[in-house]
Amino acid sequence: MPPVPAQVPTSIPEQRPAVRTALLAWYDAHRRTLAWRPGAGSARPDPYRVWLSEIMLQQTTTPHATPYFLAFTQRWPTVSDLAGAADADVMAAWAGLGYYARARNLLACARAVAGGHGGVFPDTEAGLLALPGVGAYTAAAVAAIAFGRPANVVDGNVERVVARLFAVETPLPGAKPELKRLAGMLVADDRPGDWAQALMDLGATVCRPGRPLCERCPLTAWCAAFQSGEPERWPLKVKKAVRPRRHGVAWVLHDDQGRVALVRRPGEGLLGGMLGLPTSDWSAAPAGAAPPARAEWRDAGAVDHVFTHFALTLDVRTATGQWAGQGDVLWLPAAEALSSLPTVFRKALERGLA
Ligand code: SF4
Repeated sequence: MPPVPAQVPTSIPEQRPAVRTALLAWYDAHRRTLAWRPGAGSARPDPYRVWLSEIMLQQTTTPHATPYFLAFTQRWPTVSDLAGAADADVMAAWAGLGYYARARNLLACARAVAGGHGGVFPDTEAGLLALPGVGAYTAAAVAAIAFGRPANVVDGNVERVVARLFAVETPLPGAKPELKRLAGMLVADDRPGDWAQALMDLGATVCRPGRPLCERCPLTAWCAAFQSGEPERWPLKVKKAVRPRRHGVAWVLHDDQGRVALVRRPGEGLLGGMLGLPTSDWSAAPAGAAPPARAEWRDAGAVDHVFTHFALTLDVRTATGQWAGQGDVLWLPAAEALSSLPTVFRKALERGLA
């Protein structure tokens, strides 16, 4: 465990240089190797790669986002390449990352950069914030990491570290403005991108959710939560309301060549513009809905999926027959359908193929 000084400093802002030196030295020795991060001592990262990784990492984990990041940057190496991609190709490549409005915003932003900025990302927080789908967090992260701006970058990892450092008694999410203000007191002109990533890395690998690994932390000397002896007590959180549950039916319809019937979902709303299985409405009390073929439907069980605002149970039914549903149908071989569908429909199709 790092030595704790006999006189523990209580005012982090006054101790800012020492806090920063300690964390940046830790970062130089322990930074994570990430697909979108150049090696230590390299030139600043490409803004396109920083932006793309930050959009992908919103609400998903680094291991889950990494293969998508590699596939995207191999297929579309620059923001102008991505801007020129067909919508359907990008939506299909995004399938499985969730939050599909983000994929539509991704394209809109790439096209704004390619069309309105000559393929070059704006280099200020304000300029980045004006781009479609770029919120305060992403603008700050790209400004700091790609352009060396002293922006205050606060994600969930940083919130947790700051809540513990200062033993913030206000529960999340109400504590967010306070945590952002406290994090801002530690920002400085020196190595702003490294500082942002150092805080993120500390939160991801040491000051983890649940039990933090304080014995590996460079900040114990200043950390009020550590000094309390019960660091896992922070951050405080308001209890979440239970998600409502909706129900529906998903139909896995095969043709006589073994292909599967898919439909394109409406552009607006949940999973908008994505390919999907034909389904009934999703509601709290499902009414009977007409299947998309007159056929002998077999019950294949049910799958569960959790969206941001509700949980969904889909009863899966399978049959072989001719399309008699509403709208256009796209027949795809099962393997191709599996790789083109968002997670909820992939789960239902896997159940229907089992
Ligand atoms: Fe987190 Fe422990 Fe470090 Fe405090 S000392 S910042 S609780 S890991």
